[in-house]
Amino acid sequence: MFLARCEKLDRDTLIWASDLLGIVNTKDGMVVRYRCVCGETAELLTGSRSDVRVSVHLGLAA
Ligand SMILES: [Zn+2]
Repeated sequence: MFLARCEKLDRDTLIWASDLLGIVNTKDGMVVRYRCVCGETAELLTGSRSDVRVSVHLGLAA
């Protein structure tokens, strides 16, 4: 599990393994796609090139 910022709820939330939808390696680092607690699909850029974890909601609420 890891911490991610929910931009909708404006607070840090815990993302569990069961919330993970996929992991993609990009030139900027590893992008983790997950189901946020608010119900939206979000992506989090992690890895050596990102000092700050940036979470982006994709607006694909199911
Ligand atoms: Zn959220």
